[in-house]
Amino acid sequence: MNVRGDYLAFGKPNFSDEEIAAVTAVIRTGWVGMGPQTIAFEAELASALGAPHVVTLNSCTSALFLALLDHGVGPGDEVICPSLTWCASANAAVHLQANPVFCDVDGDSMCLTPASVAAKLTPKTKAVMVVHYGGLAADVAAIRAVLPEHVAIIEDAAHAFGAKFADGRPVGSSGNLTCFSFYANKNLSTAEGGAVALFDADRAERMRALRQHGLSSDAWKRYVHPQTALLPRFAEVGYKMNYTDLQAALGRVQLKRQPEFVERRLAIANYYRSALGKSSMPVELQTNVTDERHSRHLFVVKLPIDRMRSSRDAMVLALRERNIGASIHYAPLHKLSIYPNAGAVLPETERLCERILTLPISASMSLGDAEYVATHVNQLLQLAAR
Ligand SMILES: *Cc1c(COP(=O)(O)O)cnc(C)c1O
Repeated sequence: MNVRGDYLAFGKPNFSDEEIAAVTAVIRTGWVGMGPQTIAFEAELASALGAPHVVTLNSCTSALFLALLDHGVGPGDEVICPSLTWCASANAAVHLQANPVFCDVDGDSMCLTPASVAAKLTPKTKAVMVVHYGGLAADVAAIRAVLPEHVAIIEDAAHAFGAKFADGRPVGSSGNLTCFSFYANKNLSTAEGGAVALFDADRAERMRALRQHGLSSDAWKRYVHPQTALLPRFAEVGYKMNYTDLQAALGRVQLKRQPEFVERRLAIANYYRSALGKSSMPVELQTNVTDERHSRHLFVVKLPIDRMRSSRDAMVLALRERNIGASIHYAPLHKLSIYPNAGAVLPETERLCERILTLPISASMSLGDAEYVATHVNQLLQLAAR
């Protein structure tokens, strides 16, 4: 067995000299907090995402929290959320003393469906957290159709920057509050950071205030136009969730480079699909992983576990021994006793969670890296065959 020398991380960011120069230039100005770079990045994001307003924040977790808060979610309310997601999707509700109600996903798309959401609706339901799992744009219009009007849809698009809905419009353009993450390993990375894309000007204004202790945006503008206000005005008690110009400078370059990143991720996904398809123990893939509906943040394979002598976990460890950063997205949240609603029965999620495994994919990977991964996956599957 020929093991590569370096560890192939599953979501390594791609930073070039251009990002380094952009950040350096901001440092040299002496203005590293929120300011003109952030304003420019928000405008560029709005145009890329097809939304009139984008508010940047310190994380997607903050974006999800403020989105629920803005819809009036509070103590005792229910927020329907897939179990197959990162804990942030559910925690946003918990932090508002609301209850996440875990729902099932479709086994093929791995996203929630109108039926799985409808099954969890109660008079207490205040919002639905639609996660675009792995980067696949879920059908939010179909989910909207089964919801009463007062129930909000919040889109957790942490994986889905650049994904398009079936009608070709970008995730971010639905009119729902759509939350993005710029965390270290996400498709557009600024180390940390997040944003909400939205249509309503007043709501955007309120979120801009809430991210800065409730400081009214007039007061915020004093950073850009120092003559406007002497003392800050507070609209309400807010939070400390703002973005910074250091991150925005990085983000603006990352945004400009997206076409290059998309091309690279697509090439890797296409390579995986073809190489893994040649195995006598073929894995199954998430639907749409090689078309425009998918941003390919995660490349998830579903192992043929019924035909294997070993477990999914053994496979992850064997790949890691070969310096392949295989990972699991996710341990299902409804099995975690930390949540009030733990213990629901979600058959599709449970079936998926025994056999899913995430292979490395990133804009920093070469096709040679993908070949190394696919060869070892196929070899290990062969060894594991009953
Ligand atoms: C990464 C992620 C988040 C949280 O993003 P942060 O920017 O780290 O707060 C939320 N939901 C999902 C599905 C994620 O993968």
